[in-house]
Amino acid sequence: HNHIDHATPEKVDAAIATGDTHVHVPAYEGYDAYVAEGGYETLKDLRTNGNWEAVQETVLASGLRGLGGAGFPSGKKWGFVRANAGPRYLAVNGDEGEPGTFKDRWYLERMPHLFLEGMLIAAWAVEADRAYIYMRDEYPAVLEILRREIKALEDAAIVEPGYIDLRRGAGAYICGEESAMIESIEGKRGLPRHRPPFVAQVGIFGAPTLVHNVETLHWVARVCREGPEVLNSTEKNGRTGLRSYSVSGRVAKPGMYVLPAGSTIMDLIAASGGMVAGHSFKAYQPGGPSSGLLPASMNDIPLDFDTLQPHGSFIGSAAVVVLSDHDSARGAALNMLRFFEDESCGQCTPCRVGCEKAVKLMQADHWDKGLLEELSTAMIDASICGLGQAAPNPIRLTMKHFPDEV
Ligand code: SF4
Repeated sequence: HNHIDHATPEKVDAAIATGDTHVHVPAYEGYDAYVAEGGYETLKDLRTNGNWEAVQETVLASGLRGLGGAGFPSGKKWGFVRANAGPRYLAVNGDEGEPGTFKDRWYLERMPHLFLEGMLIAAWAVEADRAYIYMRDEYPAVLEILRREIKALEDAAIVEPGYIDLRRGAGAYICGEESAMIESIEGKRGLPRHRPPFVAQVGIFGAPTLVHNVETLHWVARVCREGPEVLNSTEKNGRTGLRSYSVSGRVAKPGMYVLPAGSTIMDLIAASGGMVAGHSFKAYQPGGPSSGLLPASMNDIPLDFDTLQPHGSFIGSAAVVVLSDHDSARGAALNMLRFFEDESCGQCTPCRVGCEKAVKLMQADHWDKGLLEELSTAMIDASICGLGQAAPNPIRLTMKHFPDEV
């Protein structure tokens, strides 16, 4: 639908320079419409009379957690970054490379200013000298929207020209890992860093850096404007808050659904119009390939942070893929490992070699479970970053829940 999806970076630059991007930009809420309904009043009030610790309290009270996948309490991060002397930076992780995840795109293609105001509130809270937005380059419409709307913010003197630095993502899954993203922003190859030090201490160009996901900042704006109740007043199955689930696979109406954080896979399937006709529910990926596959029998678990860990999985960025009796769990797991093999940055041996060996072992008629288990342990124990540490999840969960297939 647009001509630049598969173009080279040079062609894209040339197209942008001439304005000939042929990008289909959907209808969205622009600057004027956002301001007409009170947009940026919260930011202006905070900049004039605000106390960052009071805002932090509000954000903590809302229960907002990092929605890129890690689930770290958002307000706490602000304190960690502020504990270090400036200059400080803010970096938005908009790389959204987790297969099955499209919630950030959903928000940005509809209401970009809630995100932008939330970003500027967070930047104000940590006194960031600059805000970098690292945006997935495979989202040309989102990039076009952000270019336009950042210009509108500059024209309205809400930000100094150049304060928001919009970067095009480098097209690698690993660049969504926050320290690799920072390397990429610095102009280097996206290789994850060892921690400590954490990016809150040593981030972009060595400066303390606050990293937030796009959706997290959307909610920062809403919590600051509407109060913590916008999130913490929803309770279900003992969980509090809302989650933006990207649902795909064998459901009738795949899409982005904002549901209570305590929702189960059955709630998500119901919200998505049920299963496709002729398909019966067999398995699901709860949070991207790193979360592996769970069987349909485990259908009463609230899909939230912390609830899946006891089962060897996690919710991550809530990228839910529903599989049916037409699908092979073994095939899906192999596909996930092929993805990790492709996307491993290659920096450390357990992940680089481990993913490759796992793919070979998983192609055999019968999986060598002992060897795969040993390999999984080595990868989990010795990989530098989350990619290599989580890549064995699909192996282990498939061996456990779908033994007949392997
Ligand atoms: Fe790179 Fe994989 Fe090591 Fe992460 S675990 S640093 S992706 S090789």
